[in-house]
Amino acid sequence: MFDVNRVRADFPILSRQVNGKPLVYLDNGASAQKPQVVIDAITQAYSLEYANVHRGLHYLSNLATDKYEAVRGIVARFLNAPSEDDIVFTSGTTEGINLVSYAWAAPRLQAGDEIVLSVMEHHANIVPWHFLRERQGVVLKWVNCDANGDLDPAEVIAAIGPKTKLVAITQMSNVLGTVVDVASICKAAREKGVPVLVDGSQSAVHMPIDVQAIGCDFFAITGHKLYGPSGSGAIFIRPERMAEMQPFLGGGDMIREVTRDTVSYNDAPMKFEAGTPGIVQQIGMGVALDYLMGLGMDRIAAHEQQLRDYARSRLAGLNWLNVQGNSETKGAIFSFTLQGAAHAHDISTVLDKRGIAVRAGTHCAMPLMDHMGVGATCRASFAMYNTEAEVDALISALELCHELFA
Ligand code: PLP
Repeated sequence: MFDVNRVRADFPILSRQVNGKPLVYLDNGASAQKPQVVIDAITQAYSLEYANVHRGLHYLSNLATDKYEAVRGIVARFLNAPSEDDIVFTSGTTEGINLVSYAWAAPRLQAGDEIVLSVMEHHANIVPWHFLRERQGVVLKWVNCDANGDLDPAEVIAAIGPKTKLVAITQMSNVLGTVVDVASICKAAREKGVPVLVDGSQSAVHMPIDVQAIGCDFFAITGHKLYGPSGSGAIFIRPERMAEMQPFLGGGDMIREVTRDTVSYNDAPMKFEAGTPGIVQQIGMGVALDYLMGLGMDRIAAHEQQLRDYARSRLAGLNWLNVQGNSETKGAIFSFTLQGAAHAHDISTVLDKRGIAVRAGTHCAMPLMDHMGVGATCRASFAMYNTEAEVDALISALELCHELFA
C-alpha cells in the first residue's frame, strides 16, 4: 500500500509555502525534490566521511571509496543489470549520452551511416548525434509520433535500414509523458544487429526498469530526477558495447599507467570515469535509489497512474484548454496551452503566484514542439508525492487564468 502522506512527510520542502500559499510542486520532470534521507546522507558524507576516492590508503578515503563504489551495485539492482561492472557513473543523462556518442559512436560511424531517433527526444538525445552529423556526415533519421503523442514501435523498426548503426530513443517523453514500447524496438533492432540506446531519464522515475527485459545496449538515468542530488547519474552499458568503446575523457582514475610515450587504461567501467567524480552526489543518488526501491517502483507507478487518470479527467473538463499528446498510456506529465492569446509564460506566472510550480517553454524538445505545431506549452509533471488535492489546486488556478486571459 502506497501512503502518499507518509511519503510527503519525508520531503521537507513540501511543507513550505511559496508566495504565501502551500507549495504545489509540479515541475518534477525538470528536477525532483529530495527526501530527508538523501539530505542527511549528503550532510553526513561532507561532515564526517569525506575524502577523495580510489587514491588514498587512509581511513577516510577508503570509507568514501566503499560508499561511492557501493552505489554501482545499487544502480545495477535498480535497473536489474546483470552486473555492477555494466554501470558507468556520469553526471547525468546528458553526460551519459555524450559518452556513448564520443566513445562508441564517433570512432565507429562513417559518412552515410544512420542513427534512428524519434521526434520526441530531449535535446540531450539529439545534439550529441547532430555533432556526428556535422563532423562525420552521419545521417539522422526521424520517426514521428501521432497527434495523440503515441509512437508506433513498428514505425521505428521500419526506419532501421542497412545503414542504421544505432537507434537512440526515449522511454518516456519529458513533454507529453508518452511511454514508448522500447522492448519491442530493442528486440527487432537486435535481430537486425543494431544497438539501441534508451534515454531513461523520465521513465526510470515512474516505473520499474529491467534493462535485461528491455534488451537495450545503453540505458541512461539522471540522479536529480530520481530524488537524488544534481550532478549524479549513471548509464548501463552492455558488456559487448563497453568492449567496443574508446576512452572519452582522459585524466586520473581512468588510467593504469602513464609514461612519457605511452598510456594504458584501467578496466571498464573506470576506464570511462576520468577525474574526481561527483563523490557525494553519487552517494546521495544511491540513497535515493534505495529509498525508491524500499517504497516499491510498482507501487509508485500505481499511485502515479491514479493521479494521471484523475488529472486527465479534470483537465478534460476545461474546454478552453488543449492538452498536447494525451495518449491513454502516458505517464503523469501534461503539456497544455490555453485557447486565446495567453502565453505559456503568463500562465506559469499566474500559477506561481498561487504557489504552483510548473514549467513553461519548449522543454528542450524543439523538434517535438515543431511537430506538434506549438511554440511553447505549460507542463505540469507529477511525482510520487503529488496528490489529487494538488490536481484540484492546479485546476482552480487554471480557471483563474482563463478568467484573466480569455
Ligand atoms: N532526457 C530527457 C527525456 C530529459 O527529460 C532530460 C532532462 O530534462 C534529459 C534527457 C537530460 O537530463 P540531464 O539534464 O539531467 O542530463
